[in-house]
Amino acid sequence: MLVKTMNNFYKHFKSHYKIIIYQNINLLFRPILLLSLLSGCTFLNNSSKNRNQSDNKYFNGDLVTKINEIYSKENEDMYDSCDYKNKEKIFEIVLEINKKDDLIKKTFQEKSPELPTIKIGKYTFLNYKNDKDPTNEWKTSQDSWNDIIAFYENAKKSDDPVSWARLNRWVRSIISDDEDRIKYGIFYGSTRNSEPILLKIKEKIEICLKNSECINIGFSIDEFTFLSKGRLYSRFLFLLNDKEYPINKKRNLIQKFLNWIDSDLDRYKFNINPIAKIEDKTLVIPIDISVFEADEASFIDIIETAWNLSAGNKIKLLSQKRPAPSFLLNIDDMPGGRAFVQFKNQSIQLFNFGRIKTMIHEFGHVLGLRDEYYTHWDLSTCSYIDEYNEANIMSGSSTGVVLPEHWEKLNLNYWK
Ligand SMILES: [Zn+2]
Repeated sequence: MLVKTMNNFYKHFKSHYKIIIYQNINLLFRPILLLSLLSGCTFLNNSSKNRNQSDNKYFNGDLVTKINEIYSKENEDMYDSCDYKNKEKIFEIVLEINKKDDLIKKTFQEKSPELPTIKIGKYTFLNYKNDKDPTNEWKTSQDSWNDIIAFYENAKKSDDPVSWARLNRWVRSIISDDEDRIKYGIFYGSTRNSEPILLKIKEKIEICLKNSECINIGFSIDEFTFLSKGRLYSRFLFLLNDKEYPINKKRNLIQKFLNWIDSDLDRYKFNINPIAKIEDKTLVIPIDISVFEADEASFIDIIETAWNLSAGNKIKLLSQKRPAPSFLLNIDDMPGGRAFVQFKNQSIQLFNFGRIKTMIHEFGHVLGLRDEYYTHWDLSTCSYIDEYNEANIMSGSSTGVVLPEHWEKLNLNYWK
């Protein structure tokens, strides 16, 4: 049965997509994938695998829990070959970091007087200045477990606390991408230029859904190649081309696919803050920053100074405690986590010893702006490739500043 299914698939698939079958062979022909296909692909129907279901995203010190959630047995059908290869080492590294949590915290405390920092309440934030003016151009950088593993082997040898602190930050950052890619099946194939192709794909799916007989969307080779970069989408294309997969299930799948494409398109859209208020030329943002106790004014000053350009409309923070409508700022003690904003529960998550620039970037999300860096997963090198512009705070979040183009978006969306 196993062989038969594969032969059918292969023949069918090959006849449609001769050009890229060879690129995707590694992606599709793996034992675990076959197993889940034979068991009726529960994976796509499993509600725990709904995309963007990132309620559980936040984690504090306990990296081991997080890594167990991501690299679990039930997520194996989302692994790529290098995820299998690295898994054991990843667990080893995370266990080592967990053992050294106290040392890492202590290292941040001890080293911070040597660094440019700003204290707000009981928290410390790094306030690095740029060595040189950032250039307004697109660059790429690459991040991978292979690099982390090499760094870890050296850290083990030297046992230098600063190396462990750096490793901790690095691991917590990459895990956030692993979580989205492996656990939530988020598509890591988009770049800054992918909106048009996503819109075209969306249009084709909508046309197909309007015709109750349609199970063939008719993707072009370019669209197919683009979608094949994501494991969830590869699976979708595979099932849609599987003659043995029932038609009613294919129709459900196409509907689900439309929802995923919609959330991929969301990352290019402005997100209006539902509790922001316009008062003449000022956009007022209610925020609960009681975490800073008597030092709330310092935070407000940093954000307002960074976001308000010399001319035009302004933003203003209104300190307002929950349960009144307010974005709630949380800060975790454990340094090194990747900060984020959640609109669903109106919260901002920062970490002690994070950067001031990060704080300013996250506030951009509260205002409704999206990330303007684009991370995609490169299977051939097992790396995340980031496209970013270091002059733009929403893109190069450790170097950039607020630009007139950010204000163009704010003006357009709030002062209609
Ligand atoms: Zn961001």
